Amino acid sequence: MKIAVYPGSFDPITNGHIAILSRASKAFDKVILLLAVNPAKKGRFSKEERLIFMKEVAKDFPNVEVDSDDGLTVEYCRRKGASFMIRGLRAVTDFEFEFQLSAANRYIAPEIEMVFFMADKETSFISSSTVNEMANHGVDVSGLVPPIVNSSYKAK
Ligand code: ADP
Repeated sequence: MKIAVYPGSFDPITNGHIAILSRASKAFDKVILLLAVNPAKKGRFSKEERLIFMKEVAKDFPNVEVDSDDGLTVEYCRRKGASFMIRGLRAVTDFEFEFQLSAANRYIAPEIEMVFFMADKETSFISSSTVNEMANHGVDVSGLVPPIVNSSYKAK
């Protein structure tokens, strides 16, 4: 069984993340959508809120599970028997960071393969921080995030 972990901050999950998740769910038997918690980073949404959003999104994918972890993601993969870690690439700027991250991960856990999905042009401009910024200024972001996230902005 090919298990992959898709880790991220998901603060909040966007349609860009969902596009990658959807493609990954077709490529692997099981995908774990993982909230990789960085306690040093104060996010826009709490860990609990982010998990609620992620679980709502995962309902559309029978082979996707949601979890959270505050340790090293490669160690999490080992515990779960996942041989693949998924990341998305939007632009050259992502490449630099992801290249370094994949080299660091390979140093720790050479048996775990990082798999990169290229964003398509419709969603490549979407990032959680951009969406948060737009929502702060009252821009309608309903085309960029799942309905549960959009409702949460409206409520706030
Ligand atoms: P992190 O803080 O770990 O970068 P993010 O939640 O920002 O977490 O993103 C998780 C992963 O999803 C990263 O690999 C990121 O490059 C990718 N990603 C984010 N937004 C998009 C998008 N619009 N299209 C494709 N990949 C994306």
